[in-house]
Amino acid sequence: AAKERRGRALRYRPELDERAAEDARLGAQLRAALDTGRLHPVYQPIVELPEGRTVAVETLMRWDHPDLGVVGPATFIPFAERSGLIVELGAWILRAACVQAARWRATLGEDAPRRISVNVSPRQLTEPGFTETVLATLAETGLPAPCLAIEVTETAVFTGGRALDALHELHRHGVRIALDDFGTGHSSLGLLQTVPVDILKVDKSFVDNIALAGRESVIASALIEVSRGMGLDAVAEGVETAEQADVLYRMGYRYAQGYFFGRPTADPVFTVAVPTAA
Ligand code: C2E
Ligand code: CA
Ligand code: CA
Ligand code: CA
Repeated sequence: AAKERRGRALRYRPELDERAAEDARLGAQLRAALDTGRLHPVYQPIVELPEGRTVAVETLMRWDHPDLGVVGPATFIPFAERSGLIVELGAWILRAACVQAARWRATLGEDAPRRISVNVSPRQLTEPGFTETVLATLAETGLPAPCLAIEVTETAVFTGGRALDALHELHRHGVRIALDDFGTGHSSLGLLQTVPVDILKVDKSFVDNIALAGRESVIASALIEVSRGMGLDAVAEGVETAEQADVLYRMGYRYAQGYFFGRPTADPVFTVAVPTAA
């Protein structure tokens, strides 16, 4: 690291200082946001086809920024990941999600979503104590392990043995494992043999042009076969139209998520089913 610093000093690049300064600013803001309640979870329905009844929800983070308004995670998760702040943010949102899910179970009974998903970043997965954090959160909130799914990407799983060990241990305790953005990383299919997967989340890019039939729909179609053959649940992501929902249903998809069924909101309503064209 010392060598690197020297190299940097020799070739002075002002943009690096600027970036460091901006990262420090963002880090301070994000930390303050966590401490002052300006971060909050929103929940997007995952529905069963063809009726569109909500059977699960995915938890997504939002930042209510004093100047910028509500900021999406694409702008701050990568930074939080780089700086390590994601470990704290992740533990916080996991807890918020489990508290909420337990409350829904208590108040809605049969109408409560059966499962809540929480995104977990690579950095969290390799952090010592991650499985303990998850198990302690479940114990504290009283949420049964099978009611929680953690969504991980292929990249996260590739970060090494510790990530895989964590997934196996959580899975042994009954926590469900979802592979997120499936099909967009490297050697996706091979992963299915080593990772204890329950749910494949088929990436939006394979859903976008599905109604065109032809080449555009081949991958979505192949992935439902794979998940069936392996006994996994498949969730089609990013469904925006009735036509897409219809094509997916006829392909064999039983679960879907997307703006057509519901946008992420702080306070979703579970008893209203959105009819699909299927
Ligand atoms: P993701 O896990 O793939 O989440 C799905 C993203 O697609 C969400 O964006 C969601 O709002 C959006 N989406 C859902 N349906 C549709 C649709 O029909 N059309 C379109 N165009 N988009 C749709 P969001 O909330 O901005 O999150 C972006 C990414 O940030 C997430 O992608 C996830 O990777 C990450 N993220 C969000 N919350 C968390 C979190 O709490 N922890 C971690 N580690 N990552 C998070
Ligand atoms: Ca996700
Ligand atoms: Ca996804
Ligand atoms: Ca994504």
